Order: sequence, then structure tokens, then C-alpha cells
Amino acid sequence: MARRIWNFSAGPAVLPETVLEEARENLLSLGNTGIGICEHSHRGKPFMAVAAEADALCRELAGIPDDYAILFLQGGASLQFSMVPMNFLPADRTADYLVTGVWAEKALAEAKSSGQTHVACTSRDANFNYIPEACTFSKNPAYVHFTSNNTIFGTQFRKEPDSIPDSAFLVCDASSDIFSRPIDVRKYGLIYAGAQKNLGPSGVTLVIVRKDLVAAGNKNLATMLQYRTHAENESMYNTPPTFGIYLMLLIFRWIKSHGGLAGMEVRNQAKAAKLYAYLKQSTLFKSTARPGSGSLMNVTFVTGNEDKDNAFVKAAEAQGFSGLKGHRSVGGMRASIYNAFPPEGIDALLQFMQDFEAAA
Ligand SMILES: *Cc1c(COP(=O)(O)O)cnc(C)c1O
Repeated sequence: MARRIWNFSAGPAVLPETVLEEARENLLSLGNTGIGICEHSHRGKPFMAVAAEADALCRELAGIPDDYAILFLQGGASLQFSMVPMNFLPADRTADYLVTGVWAEKALAEAKSSGQTHVACTSRDANFNYIPEACTFSKNPAYVHFTSNNTIFGTQFRKEPDSIPDSAFLVCDASSDIFSRPIDVRKYGLIYAGAQKNLGPSGVTLVIVRKDLVAAGNKNLATMLQYRTHAENESMYNTPPTFGIYLMLLIFRWIKSHGGLAGMEVRNQAKAAKLYAYLKQSTLFKSTARPGSGSLMNVTFVTGNEDKDNAFVKAAEAQGFSGLKGHRSVGGMRASIYNAFPPEGIDALLQFMQDFEAAA
């Protein structure tokens, strides 16, 4: 097999090697069933056991109470941009959005076709390089939506937005930082995340949603677009993304064996702190996120000179550091260092950056 290299991809992203090895075995035979994971009926006992353990472990890791449903859906986070307002935003109500990046803009745009929207805060004025301190909510919003980690701009909320109006519940697009730190699920009505950054492969989306909200959701929608369809059928109304759910289960086990969400937080803080500390004192590279807003998942940085940025990315690529080119809307570099990214890869990158800086 080819040597594995340091993969800083923003998503799909690096997965733990032990998980991939276990998945490889089970592709041919899930346990001793003689049938591979992708070949099992979703209604058969072996896969039902996988789905049940994934649900149970997800609940255990994040402390998800019984009055929340856990759904494994398809369509990515992008379909959630639409499903949330379709289910929960009546035409005569308003939904409030915290607009802190491109994904938040996209979520907002989808809500506009269901009802009225209000921008409670935005960092558009500075190309989304910070998390606003305060929000101004509308009078009676149906819900408040925010993006906990802005994958493209490398900024992250340290905690949930405060003082949500009583009329509203909190909705979070947590695609790029889900389960990277402990979470108080009770503060939320709905949390969603495409799996391909922190939870597994692309093709499965985790949704954690309060059951009373599901029951009260819009019934005038195509069956597949109603949360109730999936909640009432334990994500098995139609064929679920079986391999994605299986891999997510392996990731949940991996997280548990690494100290759970608290363990992930320690690991992630240690990794990001090293990079930010280096950027702070570097005379060549600087962080693009404002102090206090920097993400622990996506560390964005520039030299201030596009040619130098390109030279750095090219030299890094040649040394086995992949995926460091920043998103086109920010330029420069981005190191995506989700849960599974190994601490040794950070040390290797730092050494490479120091050498590059010394030679510049
Ligand atoms: C990647 C990403 C998305 C898009 O996810 P898809 O699964 O491709 O639809 C949405 N929101 C955030 C914060 C992301 O990082």
C-alpha cells in the first residue's frame, strides 16, 4: 500500500487509521456473518445491531436526553439548510440567523423561501474573520440558527449565543466541530452535521432534534422532507446510508476510547494551541482569524503575499502535507485538524513551517 501522508483536507477529511483498518476487514465480512457491511440488508439483525449501537453510543458520548431523537439522514448539511425552515418556519414567522460565514449565508438563503428571516449579527464587514460579540434578535423568532464553526474562515463560537428569545429554540450547523468538545444538548432544539469532517465518510448527516419539535413540525411536506418520517422510523423509512452509519459507529467507539468528548477537547486544544502560538510569533505567517475567534478545527493563515502563499503550499505538498491551500474566498492557507488529525502531524507541519520561514 502507498504511504499515508499528512492530510489537512477540510472535508472529507482524515479518519483514524485503526478505524479504517477495522472497516477494511468488515467490508468483506461484518464480524463472522460472511457478508460485508455494504452487503447486509438494513432490516437484518447484524445491521440493526450496528444502528442500535451507533444510536446508543452517540447518546452516551454527548449526553443526549431521551426526549431527543438521533437521525441518520442523507443530503448533507446542505439539505438541512432547507429542511430546518421547511419544517419549522411558517410563512408568517421569522427565523433569526447569525451570519458568520459562507455556510451560514447559504443556510439563510434557503430559509428565505419558507418565511421571513432576520440577520441577528454578521461579520460580513470583515470577510468573516471574527465571531460577533452580540446579537440583535427579532421580536418573536421561530428559531435562532448559528454555525458553530466556520470551516472556510477559520472562526469558531466559544459558546452558544446568549439570551435567545423565549419564543425560539436554538438550531446549530455543527458540521465542522461536532463532537470536538463537550456539548450541552439541552441548550439546543436541533443540531445537524454532515459526517465528513468529524464523524466519518460523506453521505450521512447526523441530526439531533427535540422530539416535541419534530411532532409539531410542518405536515405539508414531501414525506422524505419531514423529520417525523425519519424519527418515527428510526432513520429506516427508506434505505439508510448503512456504510456511513457503520463508520460513524467506529468513530464513536474511537472517541470513547480517547476519553470521550472531554478527551477530544483536550486533544484539539493542544493541537491548535501549538499552531496559534507559532503563528503569533512568526514574522512570515499570520493567522487570519481575529484573536479570540480562531477555530480549533480549521487554522487559517497567510504570509500576506500571494506568491509566497502559493510557494509554501507547493513546497508543503512536495513534502507530503496535503490540502493546505486555503479556500478561494480567503486565500492563503488552511490547516484542517479535526478530531482524527494526529498530533504528530501538527509537529511535522510546525517543523516544516519553521524551516520554510528560516529559508525565506
Ligand atoms: C462542509 C460544511 C457544510 C456543507 O456540508 P455538505 O454535507 O456538503 O452539504 C455545511 N456547513 C458547514 C459548517 C460545513 O463545514
